Amino acid sequence: MQADIGVIGLAVMGQNLILNMNGHGFKVVAYNRTAEKTEAFINGVAKNTHISAAYSLADLTAKLSHPRKIMLMVRAGSVVDDYIEQLLPYLEAGDIIIDGGNANYPDTNRRVAYLAKKGILFVGAGVSGGEEGARNGPSIMPGGNEAAWPYVKPILQAIAAKTKDGEPCCDWVGKDGAGHFVKMVHNGIEYGDMQLIAEAYHFLKAALGLDHHTMQQVFQDWNQTELNSYLIEITADILGFKDSDNSPLLEKILDTAGQKGTGKWTGINALDFGIPLTLITEAVFARCVSALKQQRLEASAAFRQQIRPIDQQGSTDQWVADLRQALLASKIISYAQGFMLMREASDAFDWQLNYGNTALLWREGCIIRSAFLGNIRDAYAARPDLLFLGLDPYFKNILLQCLPAWRRVVAKAIEIGLPMPCMASALTFLDGYTNAQLPANLLQAQRDYFGAHTYERIDAPRGQFFHTNWTGQG
Ligand code: NAP
Repeated sequence: MQADIGVIGLAVMGQNLILNMNGHGFKVVAYNRTAEKTEAFINGVAKNTHISAAYSLADLTAKLSHPRKIMLMVRAGSVVDDYIEQLLPYLEAGDIIIDGGNANYPDTNRRVAYLAKKGILFVGAGVSGGEEGARNGPSIMPGGNEAAWPYVKPILQAIAAKTKDGEPCCDWVGKDGAGHFVKMVHNGIEYGDMQLIAEAYHFLKAALGLDHHTMQQVFQDWNQTELNSYLIEITADILGFKDSDNSPLLEKILDTAGQKGTGKWTGINALDFGIPLTLITEAVFARCVSALKQQRLEASAAFRQQIRPIDQQGSTDQWVADLRQALLASKIISYAQGFMLMREASDAFDWQLNYGNTALLWREGCIIRSAFLGNIRDAYAARPDLLFLGLDPYFKNILLQCLPAWRRVVAKAIEIGLPMPCMASALTFLDGYTNAQLPANLLQAQRDYFGAHTYERIDAPRGQFFHTNWTGQG
C-alpha cells in the first residue's frame, strides 16, 4: 500500500508532525539525512504504527501515492533548496512539495515560481505551536500554488488544531509566499506579546515590589479576563516554578534574550512597506538591548541608575488594575499594526488575504493563541476593509476605557526609570494615529529648506507642490 505523504526531517517538528498524521490515520514515510535518526525514530516512538522509513529519496518517492506529497521539516534556508534539487529527478508533473519550515517568504515566492515551471506544485506552510503543537494540533498557514490545496487540505486540516467550534486552524492563506508571510507576522506578534508580558512582570516586581506568589496570582487572575491566552497562562506557571532550593527559578535565569530572526524579518518588512509596526520592532530591539549584558553592567555602574519603587500607600491593587489595562491596550495596538502590515503586503502582492480567517488560524494551536483572536476574527468578519483594528467598535471601546490607566502606567514607568519600550511606543503610536495634526509640516519645511524637496499646502489641492526660497538668496 502506497503512503499518503512523505516527511523529510526528523528533528523535533518533523517527528511530532508524523506522529500526529499517523494518529489521524494517514500513512507516512519518514526520511532524514542522518539515517541513524530515522532508525531510532522507526524503532522507537514510531514502532507499531503506520509510519514506515525510507533511507534514500528514491525509496521515499517510490513509496508515495500519486500525486506525491512530500513535506520538508528541515532547517530553513539553503537546505530546502538542496532538497528540492535532490528530489526533482524523482518527481513528475503534479507532485507536491510542502515546506513546513520557517522560510523567509521571498524564498517561497521564488520556489513557487521555479517549481511551477517544472510542473511541481510548491506549498509554503507556516507551522506554529512548537513541539507540543506539532504533536497535538498546530496552527498551519499554507500558501503557494493553489492547485496543491485540494490534495494537501485533508491531511493538513486533519492534523491542525481545532477551535471550540471544531473549525481547523488551517486554511488556504494565498498564493506565493503568503503563508510564510503570515507565519512571519505571527512570530513578530509573538515577540510583541512576550515583551509586553515581560514589561508587566518588570513593573509588578520592580515598581510594586510584589513577590512571586502574588505575581503568579496576578497573571492567573488576568487569564480570566480579555487577556486569556497561552502566554499569560505559562507566565503564571513560570512565576510559580521553584528551583531545587525552593526559590523562584525565574530569578536565576540570565536576562539576555535570544532570537532566531523572524521578529527581525517582520520589522524589516515593516520598514520596506512603510508600515509603522512600532511595537513588534521595539520588542526586537528590547531583545537586542538585553543581549548587551556586559555593556549594560558597565553603564549601570557608571550611571548608578536604579528603578525607584512606587511609594504605594495602599495603591497596589489600583496599579495592578491599571497595568492590566495598559497591557491589554498595548496588545490591541500590536495586533492592529501586524494586520496593517499584512494588508500592505497583501495589496502589494495581490494575495487577497482574508484577515478574519488569519485570526482564526491563530485562535488555537500556536504560541499566540488567545480568546482575543476570536474578537479580531469578528471585527474583520463585520468589516473586511477595516484599516485599523482600533476602529472596530469592540476594540475602540476597550482602547478608550484603558487610555487613562495606560497613560498612568507609562508615565509612572518613565518617572521611576523602568524601561517600557513596547507599552510606551504603543501609546505613542495611538496618540499619533488618532491625532489629526502632527508636526510633519515642520519636517516638510525643513526638507524643502535644505533640499528643495517641496511641500503641499493646506489651502491648495492635494498633489500640488510648492517650493519656497527660505533664505531669500538666489
Ligand atoms: P531544525 O533543527 O530546524 O532542523 C533539523 C533538521 O534539518 C534535521 O532533520 C536535520 O537533519 C536537517 N538538516 C539540517 N541541516 C541539513 C543539511 N545541511 N542537509 C540536510 N538536512 C539538514 O528542526 P526543527 O526544530 O524540527 O524545525 C524544522 C523546521 O520547522 C525549521 O524550519 C524550523 O524553523 C521550523 N519550526 C520549528 C519550530 C520549533 O519549535 N522547533 C516551530 C515552528 C517552526 P540531520 O538530522 O541529518 O542533521
